[in-house]
Amino acid sequence: MKKKRAARNPFDTAAFGKKYHYDGRDLGARYQSQSTTFRVWAPTARQVDLLLFTTGHQPETPRVLSMKRDSKGTWLLNVAGDLRNQYYRYRLLHPGRTDAVEAVDPYAVAVGANGDRAMIVDLRDTDPEQWSADKRPAPLRATDAVIYEAHVRDFTIHRSSGSACPGTYLGFGECGARGPGNVKTGVDHLVELGVTHVHLLPIADFASIDETSRKKQYNWGYDPKNYNVPEGSYATDPYDGRVRVREFKQMVQSLHEAGLHVVLDVVYNHTYHAVDSHLNHLVPGYYYRQNAEGGFSNGSGCGNETASDRTMVRKMMVDSLVHWVKEYHVDGFRFDLMGLHDLETMALIRKTLDGIAPGLLLYGEGWTGGDSPLPYERRAMKPNVSQLRHIAAFNDTLRDAIKGHVAEHHQGGFVQGVAGLEERLKTGLTASVRHPQIDVTGRDLWNSHWAKEPWHCVSYASCHDNHTLWDKIKLTTPGRSDAERLQMYKLAAAIVMTSQGIAFMHAGEELVRTKKGHENSYNLPDAINAIDWKRKVDHVDVFNYYRGLIALRKAHPALHMPGAAMIRKHLAFLPMPSAGMVGFCIDGAGVGDPAQWIVVLLNATGSRQTVQLPEKGWNVLVDGAKAGVKPLRRIKTDLAEVEPRSALVLAR
Ligand code: CA
Repeated sequence: MKKKRAARNPFDTAAFGKKYHYDGRDLGARYQSQSTTFRVWAPTARQVDLLLFTTGHQPETPRVLSMKRDSKGTWLLNVAGDLRNQYYRYRLLHPGRTDAVEAVDPYAVAVGANGDRAMIVDLRDTDPEQWSADKRPAPLRATDAVIYEAHVRDFTIHRSSGSACPGTYLGFGECGARGPGNVKTGVDHLVELGVTHVHLLPIADFASIDETSRKKQYNWGYDPKNYNVPEGSYATDPYDGRVRVREFKQMVQSLHEAGLHVVLDVVYNHTYHAVDSHLNHLVPGYYYRQNAEGGFSNGSGCGNETASDRTMVRKMMVDSLVHWVKEYHVDGFRFDLMGLHDLETMALIRKTLDGIAPGLLLYGEGWTGGDSPLPYERRAMKPNVSQLRHIAAFNDTLRDAIKGHVAEHHQGGFVQGVAGLEERLKTGLTASVRHPQIDVTGRDLWNSHWAKEPWHCVSYASCHDNHTLWDKIKLTTPGRSDAERLQMYKLAAAIVMTSQGIAFMHAGEELVRTKKGHENSYNLPDAINAIDWKRKVDHVDVFNYYRGLIALRKAHPALHMPGAAMIRKHLAFLPMPSAGMVGFCIDGAGVGDPAQWIVVLLNATGSRQTVQLPEKGWNVLVDGAKAGVKPLRRIKTDLAEVEPRSALVLAR
């Protein structure tokens, strides 16, 4: 008897791909003053109509034009006349269904309020003055980056930001803003801090905020609706589809002028709506992975997951990224739940973008939000990114070793003095590449040398998810003083900024940001999420410490070597006098560093420790109080005293 095999999803067959994969670059609405051409991919539809509107959101009866079936499952229509700034949707009839469904074009480049109608736009109408002269800062090696992860609204919505345009793209790009005590805020603050890349939480149009409401609303934006359009609630006018596009460009232009690279957090792994999404109305079932029962699989934890392994989904992702790079001049991407994307897609993204703007920074979350039908070995998971070139994953091993596991709220880490985390910390300090001095016995690949090169690894202590670094330290140290907690805090910062790999920090870390103990603030009000710039005054020593650490990192290539072989050869861990300590020495001369030797000593114990150094005569660049590139004092001997809960960085 023949075994019955589960029927293969017709979308995954070679025959479907051969018949319907559309390679052309003209999907969407192509505007010209004499006529506009519309092309949409809907191979399974039996009828597709174009609906034309004069406004982006007002109730109105559209002009209806029927489209013609064209090659590879696309539908085509050329409409004579000047359609500039009109809006449109598609209406589809599917076999076996009598009721029509409607969808916004997934290739829409502008939309009306709430993203329910696409706009027919001449993108040159959206260019700010001097846009053609906008230049990306020269590309950096990934390991030279210091990334600052911020939310557009959080950054300037607090009254203390001094912003003239709080909570908007324009506010984010505003120069000259000052806060309490005349401290620099906004762009000037970022320049003062010294970071190289601004990473923005999702700015592509998302669904959770009603752009037409004047009520105060908040969301991180991990609920995508239109992938190629900026979110409307950060624009001064969400109705005219051109405004958000122009204002987003103005923000990029301003950040570029300040020498900052712009990285976008992109959420291609799921959409806010599932059965009723634009994508599902266009080609029911195609854009999403199915579970064993034939329903939506939920690898994102948000009710659905897109199928990057299907070629027209892959193409949609690649085309979308290309659009952000070409039209908005952005400098990199952070992939949300990258583990849901297949390795082939990620490799194609790297290759395609390299052909347009070499050296863009690409990294992502090397995990999923639930199980997925995509086989583990095909997923762009943390232990699999070593198969990719110049795509990195967040090093949660380092993050959790520093301050305690994010899911175990009351569990501390190395900086709080928890025992037994030294080896894990070493794994993080070396960007999780193989290293002869690190014992990985009994540890799985996830927590050992999962990276092949340091550019596979994003080194960090905190991000927008989970407790802020300060809240986590507070939660895990009952009965301790804030003075002690701030020592732990600065030790955590010193660990990240002396770790190999790509340095990353959460916005506001440098001013001891608190979310008042809230662990997941994705939809909480400004009162929890907004950055309170008064904290820059209150914690000016911490701000200066971060600033000094970043300057140190940038001045010393030994702290962020570009290759794993260099790290293995030139970074050696030193014997420590106590548990709760980790120390290492880098042969600076061997890696082109201005310092001949650099020593980093990390003391998480509650006592002062004396460490034997390999040589005599050192300059102290960082201690528990201060950090920077100029020597704070000299050590004449070969003995270093490391204060409790502090880092000591020495050079000679
Ligand atoms: Ca929106």
